Amino acid sequence: MATDQHGRTINYLRVSLTDACNLRCVYCMPEHMTFRPGSALLQDDELLMLIGLFAELGFEKIRFTGGEPTLRRNLVELIRTTANTPGIKSVGLTTNGILLDYLARPLRDAGLDRVNVSLDTLDEARFRQITRWGNLRDVLAGIEAAERAGLRIKINAVPVHGFNDNGDAAELARLTLDRNWQVRFIEMMPLGGIAQFQQANVITEAQLRQRIDTALGPLAPENNGQLDGEARVYRLKGAKGTVGFISPVSNPFCAGCNRLRLLADGILRLCLLRENEVDLGKPLRAGWSRDRLSKLIRESVHQKPWGHGLADNSIALNRAMSEIGG
Ligand code: SAM
Ligand code: SF4
Repeated sequence: MATDQHGRTINYLRVSLTDACNLRCVYCMPEHMTFRPGSALLQDDELLMLIGLFAELGFEKIRFTGGEPTLRRNLVELIRTTANTPGIKSVGLTTNGILLDYLARPLRDAGLDRVNVSLDTLDEARFRQITRWGNLRDVLAGIEAAERAGLRIKINAVPVHGFNDNGDAAELARLTLDRNWQVRFIEMMPLGGIAQFQQANVITEAQLRQRIDTALGPLAPENNGQLDGEARVYRLKGAKGTVGFISPVSNPFCAGCNRLRLLADGILRLCLLRENEVDLGKPLRAGWSRDRLSKLIRESVHQKPWGHGLADNSIALNRAMSEIGG
């Protein structure tokens, strides 16, 4: 079991498969973003070797993300091998859903359990504005395919002033009345590149909850108000699904953090919102033994910082969200 210097068990690895994306969401990256060449990314065998080492150290939950992970060649095979890695109990994917229509079934067959799909509005025009490039219909088809394939579904929405604050949150929350999905609202976080925009246009959990309450009635707390992962979860009266709020800024959850992030270029990010990183890719390519790499990972886990410093206006500027994967 891997523990950090604060006594937390760390057993959840988010793995970014690429920094590239087929959308350009306004809250995530600048429109003219440059991406790393393929040769700078971990290759499949390198990635799978590192995942195996994490699993040996007690990591049991893996979530693939990006950039857009469905752009990665061999995604289905990567998921199959990861799901069959001893010690791994759950494999998830966070995606914009654009390519999910044809990928959901093969991914499910390869061992994917759950999918988080980003969907910020049900209005076609506003969807285009917020993603700059996307078609809402593709994502809705992707979600339906995921449902048919039997994947557990969560919807991630990032509310942004001036883009999707026009009743969008209530319309998304309304989906939970008939669908057994968790619709989660993620408070926009400031990170490198566009932090000013992100801070100026954030919509807080309190504002959102008020809007949803007014439109759809009260949200009743689930799990006795305990966190589900990083989300505070509620249910509308009679709803099949739930509504979650992930509010790292106004309602931090660092005390229960159990995750690290392996970025596509082989960097291990110790906290989403801190610049602390350890390079695993270079030593791997320099031929370090499994034992030596494993020791480096264990030492890195130990160094995980307690939490972010947003309350002190300490913002991580070294990477955009699209490079880290959320
Ligand atoms: N492309 C995939 C997607 O959109 O789901 C995976 C990568 S994306 C970076 C992962 C998650 O981060 C998405 O749910 C996205 O909405 C969220 N995200 C991106 N920028 C964010 C920000 N500034 N604050 C909060 N969440 C953000
Ligand atoms: Fe791409 Fe996901 Fe970022 Fe949108 S949130 S630009 S889909 S990586």
